[in-house]
Amino acid sequence: MRWTNLPALVLASFAALSLTPAPAFAQTGQVVSVAKEDFAAARLGRRGLDLLMEKDGRIFIVATPGEMAALAGLRVPFTIEASRFLPQGLQGVSQAGGINGAYHSTLELETDLRALERDHPGLASLLEIGKTLEGRKIYALKISDNVAADEREPAVFFIGCHHAREWISVEVPFLFGKHLLENYDKDQEVRNLVDASEIWIVPIANPDGLEYSIHVYRYWRKNRRANADGTFGVDINRNYGYAWGFDNIGSSGLPGSDVYRGTAPFSEPETAAIRGLFLAHDFRAMISFHSFAQDILFPWGYTTEAAPTDAELGAVAGTMAGLIAGVRGTAYSSGQASRLLYLTNGDTVDWTYSIAGAPSYTIELSPVDIDHGGFFNDEAAIGAIFEENLPAMLYLTRYAIDNPVPRPPRVRVRRDGIRPVPESRLKLARTPVLRPSR
Ligand SMILES: [Zn+2]
Repeated sequence: MRWTNLPALVLASFAALSLTPAPAFAQTGQVVSVAKEDFAAARLGRRGLDLLMEKDGRIFIVATPGEMAALAGLRVPFTIEASRFLPQGLQGVSQAGGINGAYHSTLELETDLRALERDHPGLASLLEIGKTLEGRKIYALKISDNVAADEREPAVFFIGCHHAREWISVEVPFLFGKHLLENYDKDQEVRNLVDASEIWIVPIANPDGLEYSIHVYRYWRKNRRANADGTFGVDINRNYGYAWGFDNIGSSGLPGSDVYRGTAPFSEPETAAIRGLFLAHDFRAMISFHSFAQDILFPWGYTTEAAPTDAELGAVAGTMAGLIAGVRGTAYSSGQASRLLYLTNGDTVDWTYSIAGAPSYTIELSPVDIDHGGFFNDEAAIGAIFEENLPAMLYLTRYAIDNPVPRPPRVRVRRDGIRPVPESRLKLARTPVLRPSR
């Protein structure tokens, strides 16, 4: 018997105990739960598992067949939670527009971005900023008056879909661009903003991962890098160059982990493309959209120490939360990322903040928790989630125009290519706080 058959056999013996058939793909998984005391006793916190939530004394995990086999091998009892979470996670998607329903695939987005460019000449320009490992194009939509010229205006950046399964994070920045272009002639403040700034929108930072999430495995998070140990994917929101690999809590050096940081800062084409764009313009504010939690998070993520402009970051975040709540009462929390959510290192906003000193935010969109849909927003809610975030996006754009930064840089900048911290000097990972990877 080949060793590769072993996990399947172990799994088969466990599958007989459950009511759910084993998934068809080796890379797919489903939600299982483990009693909190069993989780701690088996020290599962060190295994880089994809933790979703803790509820009623149980830890919920997205587990692949291999991981379920490992749990079985460790004699950790687990329950398949198929009744609460469909294996493919297609709740809320009509499938009338294909398997991804009203959400954009990479090609559908390209078509719609081209249409915006065609319909708004002089205001919209579509640029290819990089290519993924599987050869897909990473697009940035630039919106400004005299868009073809570099007028050296203050730049604002909105980006989505670092994480493949966070489909709603594509739609909010895309709809923002559409809103600006379609209201330029009708809305004086939109016109003022577009005339005075450059607004850069990258709705899909991770096209390969998104396609994999649509077609193979709905819970996929990372890009599709083939790692040396046979696993796939780098978490591109742990691959940026500020405090990359600072410790093994905020990211992982294990390639199979869902928060694997890659082999070096900017080792991935997606983060390299975004670095190139960001360094070429005078960015004064940015939002990186994720889901889910209804949080507005700001640097630092890698440490609980306050950022140099902590008060300003917090004030702007608080204003944005108030604007979101003002639409129909949806409550977003705001705070320093490492304190409100969990430690991360090598993430997008720590890096952009370190470079520009500009207000940089991660917004975890609706819903508030996994019992309200988690990563799987009902497609009927796309418009409402965008409308709630619109005033905050307009406000941040206005703020960027009115508040030039840095003057001189207020942040001690550690430029690209910081020396990676050697693995031997990394702190041993403690049992992590049990929060989902978002
Ligand atoms: Zn995310």
